[in-house]
Amino acid sequence: MKAKRWFFEEPLAEADPEVARYILADESRQRSQVELIAPKNYMSKAVREAMGSMVVFTTVEGYPGKRYHAGVENVDAIERLAIERAKAMFGAGYANVQAHSGSQANQAVYFALLTPGDTVLSMDLSSGGHLSHGFKSNLSGRWFKTISYGTTPDGFIDYDAMEQLARQHHPKLMIVGGSSYPRAIDFPRVSEIAAQVGAVTLADVSHFSGLIAAKEYPSPFPHMDFVTTTTNKNLRGPRGGLIMSRDPAFGKKIDSAIFPGIQGGPLPDVIAGKAVCFGEALQPEFTEYARRVLSCARTLASSLSARGYRIVTGGTDTPFTMVDLRTRGLTGDVAQKTLEAHGVTTNRNLVPQDKESPNVTSGLRMGASAIAARGMAEPEASELAEIIADVLDRAAAKPGQELEVNASIAQRVSALAERFPLYPT
Ligand SMILES: *Cc1c(COP(=O)(O)O)cnc(C)c1O
Repeated sequence: MKAKRWFFEEPLAEADPEVARYILADESRQRSQVELIAPKNYMSKAVREAMGSMVVFTTVEGYPGKRYHAGVENVDAIERLAIERAKAMFGAGYANVQAHSGSQANQAVYFALLTPGDTVLSMDLSSGGHLSHGFKSNLSGRWFKTISYGTTPDGFIDYDAMEQLARQHHPKLMIVGGSSYPRAIDFPRVSEIAAQVGAVTLADVSHFSGLIAAKEYPSPFPHMDFVTTTTNKNLRGPRGGLIMSRDPAFGKKIDSAIFPGIQGGPLPDVIAGKAVCFGEALQPEFTEYARRVLSCARTLASSLSARGYRIVTGGTDTPFTMVDLRTRGLTGDVAQKTLEAHGVTTNRNLVPQDKESPNVTSGLRMGASAIAARGMAEPEASELAEIIADVLDRAAAKPGQELEVNASIAQRVSALAERFPLYPT
């Protein structure tokens, strides 16, 4: 029997072949499929290197200059860089880079500003809001009284209703942003409504923060008081959260809401990855990337619309396009499954005034952040739209047979994926 290798030397394939096998299988899935899952993105090799580095073992607690452990000077320097870069990216007065996720970033803002029982005004889930904005199955919904605004029948935020609800309920916090609202938010209008009732404002820009950094989407600052985002979606960084405020005076409250409020030690490897990704977002190449994301999302919308698919709001200002399948007799569930069988991953999603359950839905959400990171541009987005329409047309024509794969369509998908390879092996 072969001698077991040393702890610091044994590769995963030998140490744990079972897990290694699944990891390899998922790698090959990612290489051969085209991913249109809206939050999905890839990180640069540089970000992956920072995250796989030994900095992960450095134990820290607290904030740069105020830690509770020795040996932290390099981690302090990295976190300060991440903070300065985040502020520069968004024009923020203050930034906290320690939130482990987008949900925790939001939770920290609530913990800093609210007391259980307070009223929060946010967008409802089917109009594009997020679970962490006060929905009943989330802790935020359990602790706060949530009032929801939605969209007009054409899918745009109903600012008049937002204003009426604000005047009627006097929320302490007003939240804008979400996971499937495809249009630019009118931040000055939201700020003006909040000022009438003395509410604090939070913009959760998780899905389009890269566009904001590249100035391809309106800036929430100086209009919003707080901005939160995940760093792994449109920003092409590690999984994690980022909290910013316009006024540096709020910094202390947010810092203590994160630690010791809702988290313990931060993740130094993730913070290093965030620092590198924020540095990338400040480069001119990132603007080119963001423009390509937007043009791909818009091409998906216009090409699918030309094939007779209804696009929520008729287009998009974000990295994703929302398709309303009701006019084609399909559900989001069926559309997602048949596209997956052909190598295109998307996700079913509620659309405004949806009558289906969240598990079935009438909509499909398709994001362009990942295909643009792979190097795809308008011609590929338009080819993809044709592929998608071909798959969905077939599924609509033959109900119940949506898992039957058309080999020539599947071949078009894998050929496209091959032309835009991921990390070299
Ligand atoms: C993804 C997302 C979140 C949650 O982020 P996690 O990191 O998954 O917790 C919060 N808000 C919005 C708008 C999101 O899209």
